[in-house]
Amino acid sequence: MVEVLLASRNAKKLAEMQRILAPQVPDIRVLGLDDTVPYEEPVEDEPTFAGNALLKARAGLAASGLPTVADDSGLCVDALNGMPGVLSARWAGVGKDDEANNRLLLEQLADVPDERRGAHFRCAVAFCHPDGTELVVEGRMEGHIIREQRGSGGFGYDVLFVAAEHATAGLTSAELDASEKDAISHRGRALREIAPRIADLLADR
Ligand code: IMP
Repeated sequence: MVEVLLASRNAKKLAEMQRILAPQVPDIRVLGLDDTVPYEEPVEDEPTFAGNALLKARAGLAASGLPTVADDSGLCVDALNGMPGVLSARWAGVGKDDEANNRLLLEQLADVPDERRGAHFRCAVAFCHPDGTELVVEGRMEGHIIREQRGSGGFGYDVLFVAAEHATAGLTSAELDASEKDAISHRGRALREIAPRIADLLADR
């Protein structure tokens, strides 16, 4: 068994990551931040998703000594010039919750017509190994922002986001079941790309 730290406190994100990584990386035991020594988590002050994912993975490795996976993700809205982007979690202010972020997004897009409500989620996943190897990959999910919240699954902006693959039915990513979301999500795509590379690195060492 090889232990790998997943440096995230978001339980829903952690579950998504575990669901996708575990079957692809043999003999992996995934630990969360609560399973390791407490440490001061870094401020996510990089301007890019990749930069923030690396920051978090490096800090997890430095504190635990374990190979560490971390992600950084967010929603990029065309009509807002790509915002909230890396600020997605705290768009309505530090300490504000998903509900406040979603309300603010709806207000900001109130006058934006349907044909200009395009958006995409992005996710960077970073892996840092104790031998100094670092990997980063990115995944995207394209779609658009609707005008009222729908669905009870997922988290964050899922209740307002309809992926291109589900545009005909108009289902938000909060109305998909977990496996349907994983199949097309930014995090699913990035994790499926990085998982075999992590498996190779862990097997070699
Ligand atoms: P992070 O924890 O810094 O990566 O912040 C990610 C933020 O982006 C979350 O708090 C959500 O607001 C948003 N986000 C990222 N991925 C998703 C997703 O799959 N669905 C909905 N919102 C997401």
